[in-house]
Amino acid sequence: MNTLSLIALDGPSGVGKSTTAKRVAQQLGWNYLDTGAMYRVTALALHRAGVDLADRPALEALLASLRIEQRGSRSFLNGEDVSDAIRTPEVTKLVTPVSADPRVREVLVEQQRAIGATGGWVVDGRDIGTVVFTNACCKVFLTASAEARARRRFLELQAKGVPLAYEEILADQQRRDHADSTRAVAPLRKADDALELDSSTMTLDEVVAWIVRHHQSH
Ligand code: C5P
Repeated sequence: MNTLSLIALDGPSGVGKSTTAKRVAQQLGWNYLDTGAMYRVTALALHRAGVDLADRPALEALLASLRIEQRGSRSFLNGEDVSDAIRTPEVTKLVTPVSADPRVREVLVEQQRAIGATGGWVVDGRDIGTVVFTNACCKVFLTASAEARARRRFLELQAKGVPLAYEEILADQQRRDHADSTRAVAPLRKADDALELDSSTMTLDEVVAWIVRHHQSH
């Protein structure tokens, strides 16, 4: 199997994958793909259209007409900038069952493969190293303790003036981790050939430097 010059960055919710991936891409002069945003855009589209996952013909029709784009760190649904709309707590809840649907995954994985096929991408998600780009030259499984992740998110939201209790953040993260790790299709897990990095006590700069070093050693 030919290896692809692409960094697959997987890990649980709230571990800082997006921020890290963006910075690594900047340093390498590569592109960044946020696959979580693609699942979020799909969940938003289903919600807006009132399509139930159980209604297979309606789901198929919606998936066939769905046009998801990423320009920089903005996400677009059929040309509309939905970057803020996909980050609401409501979409964060809705995305869990949507991302567990095999048909949704099939369609989005195909799009992700088409985007990253030429290499030169940092791609973050849950199944990038295990399913989407099994041939990626560099795979990192980024973790941090549940408490460290919830604390970071709490401080981030506080700085933005969003008053969400630490316990609530922790509970929501645990719900998403459990759902992502136990689903039948493409569950969250470390690829056998991925290196695991526990970032609980590391700064963002340290994590970025570690990944760039790891990539360059390949
Ligand atoms: O990364 P983010 O939290 O934005 O992802 C939103 C949701 O999409 C996750 O909770 C997860 O259920 C799902 N996801 C996935 N596979 C990916 C990326 C995200 O199932 N590759």
